[in-house]
Amino acid sequence: MKRRKFIQNASLSTFGIAVGSSVFASGKNLSLISEEKKLQNSSENFPLVIATWNVNDSTAEAWRVLQEGKSSLDAIEKGCNIEEANAEGQSVGIGGLPDRDGNVTLDACIMDSKGNYGAVVYLQNIVHPISVARKVMEDTPHVILAGKGAEQFAYSEGFEKTDLLTEASKKAWEEWKKTSQYKPIINIENHDTIGMLAIDKNGDISGGCTTSGLAYKMAGRVGDSPIIGSGLFIDNEIGGATATGLGEEVLKTVGSFLIVELMRQGKTPQQACEEAIGRIIKKSPDFKDFQVGYIAVNKKGETGYYSIHDGFWVTKYQNDKNENIPSDFYDKK
Ligand code: ASP
Repeated sequence: MKRRKFIQNASLSTFGIAVGSSVFASGKNLSLISEEKKLQNSSENFPLVIATWNVNDSTAEAWRVLQEGKSSLDAIEKGCNIEEANAEGQSVGIGGLPDRDGNVTLDACIMDSKGNYGAVVYLQNIVHPISVARKVMEDTPHVILAGKGAEQFAYSEGFEKTDLLTEASKKAWEEWKKTSQYKPIINIENHDTIGMLAIDKNGDISGGCTTSGLAYKMAGRVGDSPIIGSGLFIDNEIGGATATGLGEEVLKTVGSFLIVELMRQGKTPQQACEEAIGRIIKKSPDFKDFQVGYIAVNKKGETGYYSIHDGFWVTKYQNDKNENIPSDFYDKK
């Protein structure tokens, strides 16, 4: 099967989570207008953490770090570390589903409010790729390290070698091998790639993205998550955005950069996410066969989230409340 076909074959049956009514009304009523007024007073809106999927423990950890007065960068790293260390999560860090050869390979990136960025791609045997990405950003003259080089660098920075293939993921892979059907499962469960955005008490924005990528992908495949502008982009003057879902589609439309630029032109985070999803739908007639979800935040602490299909959730921690929120979506059938 051709690569393109394989990518587009991702099953829609995995988008099975029911979604409530949209939190975004298209018409404006008075309470919304007063809500908007309140949003202009930004300091009421942060600190703030928002992440893709239902990852309450991760957002809670990021929030805890922000409450200590630490930077949004620290909050992002520590928040993402929680899910990376969760062996039950089969799409991030340890326990991630392997590629078609049985190797767990991780992609991650981090970006700070000064526009610094670091990433690792195709990293093996390390539980916390986002922390290695931060080290790439802070301790090397480079921005991306790949494969063996990234792994060697991680060891030199004191990271331990760990077998990332858990029994459960090995079993799932062995089951998959019986048919070897080249159908990577996107959004396999209620949490997936973590893309996280945070604003600290100073109003500074950072973001991170960490994933094991598509399950049973081709060896060597790298998705959007570690690539600046695609899986993540931060511009501290404007806001930030991050993505989950079929990375190939996000890469082709440079989704997160697009969202930040749309916000620069005056769009709200919600409008910008919707336009970025619209861009994918316009260019990919096969959009019914894959999922992409975006989240965004602007400098005022306003947020937006939107996906192609039903089933995308976000977790937002703001004003002492850690909430799972169903995202509005395009394909209403
Ligand atoms: N975006 C990730 C990738 O393509 C996968 C995901 O979010 O599920 O690697």
